[in-house]
Amino acid sequence: MTKQGTLGVAVIGTGRMGADHVRRINEVTSGARVAAVVDIDAERAKQLADRIDGCTAYTDPAAAMGSPDVDAALIASPGPAHEAALLKAFERDLPVLCEKPLTPDADSALRVMEAEQKAGHRLVSVGFMRRYDAEYLKLKALLDSERFGRTLMLHCKHRNVSTPPGFTNQMMINDSVVHEIDTTRWLLEQEITAVTVLRPTPSSGAPEALSDPQLVLFETSGGSVVDVEIFVNCGFGYQVQCEAVCESGSARVGDGHALVSNTAGRWGGDIDQDFVTRFEDAYDREVQRWVDATRRGTVEGPSTWDGYAAAAVCEAGVRAQATGARTVTSLIERPALYR
Ligand code: NAD
Repeated sequence: MTKQGTLGVAVIGTGRMGADHVRRINEVTSGARVAAVVDIDAERAKQLADRIDGCTAYTDPAAAMGSPDVDAALIASPGPAHEAALLKAFERDLPVLCEKPLTPDADSALRVMEAEQKAGHRLVSVGFMRRYDAEYLKLKALLDSERFGRTLMLHCKHRNVSTPPGFTNQMMINDSVVHEIDTTRWLLEQEITAVTVLRPTPSSGAPEALSDPQLVLFETSGGSVVDVEIFVNCGFGYQVQCEAVCESGSARVGDGHALVSNTAGRWGGDIDQDFVTRFEDAYDREVQRWVDATRRGTVEGPSTWDGYAAAAVCEAGVRAQATGARTVTSLIERPALYR
């Protein structure tokens, strides 16, 4: 911990998410400061560091994590770079908030989980931010209370305005549906045991080679069924909805009815256009909770196990998408550190 008792954070990767987290730690979060920024694009890192008192720019994550000013790391580089940065953080016993995905596949996630177990204690929180969204937190509290009885099904929608060039069918699972994979596991406290993917005739607005939309079905260890509409070029907005159907009631989040206007013979409201605004509060709460826990010397939130399980379900999902067949997931036994 630095002199003032604030947590010195190294933000690794300063693209869209990383730069937003730098702004957040600098302007919104209490008890932390950005001590270092790291990017393989040296100019990008320097431009950010120059705007923050006492912040040093690096191009090498290991060098930043070796600085005496750095007490913890927030990893926001692309998924394939996460494993190397995580292993370096473990060598220095640094707590880490790692943007999703933990790593891009189950094998690399397993290597990270083994290294964390060798360190002997949890160091990683994974940035599955929906767990910090006010609406999702209310839904979770309701389901945990069992006021409506057992949860039978979840109906989820995940819509994006459009995708960048090069976005693939596999990315619909690995980058988008991965959030529903985590929310399903978190809300139901069950593992996903099988995945099926149905692909209707693509929308005329879908880029060539992208089968958009798709319907993804999960079966869970407790016998629940979850459907996810994933439609990443819907054109009209960013919408994330989840309806839980329970034995004696249902509950839905994500309607986006914060402001309803009436004018010119119509009523309506605005639809978020991206995750940065829809989940702004969730990102703020996620980073604040991570900073608070780290300053107390504890680790909370989605674990390396959650990151591994999500990666394993994604792999089954990508296979199901390619074959059209119901695909059973395969997880190792949950290690003691994560029980
Ligand atoms: P981006 O491409 O905008 O930025 C990535 C940055 O990392 C770039 O500046 C790049 O130069 C830098 N970089 C690449 N390799 C690096 C390395 N080895 N070390 C340090 N820096 C490196 O990507 P993004 O959209 O900001 O995504 C970053 C991470 O955040 C990804 O893991 C992504 O999945 C995740 N993400 C999470 C959410 C969410 O809702 N939780 C949303 C978007 C992205």
